[in-house]
Amino acid sequence: MKDIPVLIVGGGPVGLSMALALARQNIHSLVIERHPCRTEHPRARGVSMRTMELFRQWGNIDELLKYEFPKEAIRFTWSESLQGNEVTRVEMKGLENYTHGPIGASFVTQDCVEEYLHYTLRDHHQAEIQFSKEMISFEENDTGVTVKLLDRKTKKEEVVHTQYLIAADGAHSSIRKQLKIEMEGPDNLARSCSVYCEFDISQWTKHRPSVGFFFTDPKLLGRSLFTAYGKNRWIVGMNLKPENTKEDFTDEYCLNEIRRVLDMPNLEIKIINKSFWTMAAQVAKQYRRGRIFLAGDAAHRLPPTGGLGMNTGVADVHNLAWKLAFVLNHHISDTLLDTYYDERAPVAKRNIEWSTENAKRFFDIFKAIQAGDHETLKIKLHEQQKNLNYEGLDLGFIYHSNAVKSENDQALSMRPDKYIPTTLPGSRAPHVPLIKNGNTISTLDLFEKNFVLLIGAAGEAWHTAINELSQTLTIPVSVYKIATDGDLIDPDNIWHDIYGISESGAVLVRPDGHVAWRSKLIVDNPKTELEKCLNSF
Ligand SMILES: Cc1cc2nc3c(=O)[nH]c(=O)nc-3n(C[C@H](O)[C@H](O)[C@H](O)COP(=O)(O)OP(=O)(O)OC[C@H]3O[C@@H](n4cnc5c(N)ncnc54)[C@H](O)[C@@H]3O)c2cc1C
Repeated sequence: MKDIPVLIVGGGPVGLSMALALARQNIHSLVIERHPCRTEHPRARGVSMRTMELFRQWGNIDELLKYEFPKEAIRFTWSESLQGNEVTRVEMKGLENYTHGPIGASFVTQDCVEEYLHYTLRDHHQAEIQFSKEMISFEENDTGVTVKLLDRKTKKEEVVHTQYLIAADGAHSSIRKQLKIEMEGPDNLARSCSVYCEFDISQWTKHRPSVGFFFTDPKLLGRSLFTAYGKNRWIVGMNLKPENTKEDFTDEYCLNEIRRVLDMPNLEIKIINKSFWTMAAQVAKQYRRGRIFLAGDAAHRLPPTGGLGMNTGVADVHNLAWKLAFVLNHHISDTLLDTYYDERAPVAKRNIEWSTENAKRFFDIFKAIQAGDHETLKIKLHEQQKNLNYEGLDLGFIYHSNAVKSENDQALSMRPDKYIPTTLPGSRAPHVPLIKNGNTISTLDLFEKNFVLLIGAAGEAWHTAINELSQTLTIPVSVYKIATDGDLIDPDNIWHDIYGISESGAVLVRPDGHVAWRSKLIVDNPKTELEKCLNSF
């Protein structure tokens, strides 16, 4: 029987990200995907700043950026109809002059994201992907999980044994269902069909490139147009009415409907594929059952209005991968894995809440169009900029769990549209440009495999304490002094201010780049303080 440390069911963006994040921690994994190849449907398009930071860390980001939409197209355009008068444009701010990280948010379609992840995984011998392999059942015992797989090409069954099983098997996760883990929240807010196709409407769009076109003509309600990667590639969004079934959306119906929506009766259209989806707003009541973990859409179903489903899933596995690696490689207590739910479920809930607000705003817009209520329409269209501007939600979430030493008076009110850099324990350690060996790096580049202790010019006592503890510590800690005579130079002299500590203070950052603990000043006994903190993991 094949024995593999981690088996990942599902080769979508979350399963692939998990394999990559584990490989970079030197943990072997096998990804199985029931389909014969990668997805050919461009479902997600919005890649958040935090996800881009992770992708930048994991591989050659230029291989992804070659697929990104031009920055000037990152907006929604509302017009009466494709050929009618323009009503308004909704812009995403800060795309060029982002200061909170080494890379900004991007628009890249999900098929290209998955290609990038596959391409990057090729450089990692620790990860293997097998297509046309379906997980059919599993059983957990004391040493791991025994999983039965079906090779859909040969129709043969095989059994593998794994220490940990990751359910990255999507919104209808059969692993979640077999474990009888319940979901909380509505499972059907709306149904839609995305028709991915090829046609040339450049005459109407080239002067106003946009990732989304929406229409205020009541006859076009429930129809929208989204840019896909590639010349003349589009996704036409068609909402289903309650009485509609999938069968209603034949190729013939879709072709006629697209020509009607675009008011181009003779337009040549090639349908590439179609995808039906149901808008839900659900979170699993548990993310862990023994040695089995839910991640991505298997753990939460977000309304796509806001583009956070994939992003939330990628952040899930980034959170889980280092914890699994520390349990497997550094013999840290398995209870660390319980913090996965404690940290990630609140983020999923908040992202769902925000995405649902965006969905409601869309419904309000449609209602106002139907009612001819121009005043409400104007207000709601103006408010739609909230849908595209969410840096606070993306970067500002703060974990509270046993894997964070929260401070007594800890509180930070978070605005979805505004990120405030902070080192409150649990927050993403902020980006500061630093000089290392003559090259500019980001603080974010320091965080991945080890815990990292950042100290300033007067923080030597912390370094000495770590050296003294090094014989007894089970977890790896790297120390960097940021000072003119240090390992890293802060050319703009902003590090202390942004990190909120004095020259004698210290910040301990976890491998996922979240602050574990900080001390604004030196303390009487730095060794005891650090020992207490590090031994609690
Ligand atoms: C219209 C639309 C727009 C969206 N836009 C965005 C956006 O802009 N930004 C964003 O972040 N998110 C967006 N999303 C959400 C995003 O597409 C999903 O969150 C994302 O695909 C989830 O990834 P996943 O890997 O968890 O699941 P999936 O992508 O669903 O992958 C799961 C994989 O598991 C495989 N699988 C299932 N069962 C088995 C089994 N038993 N054995 C083997 N393999 C199995 C499936 O074949 C599938 O390939 C959008 C979604 C929709 C519908």
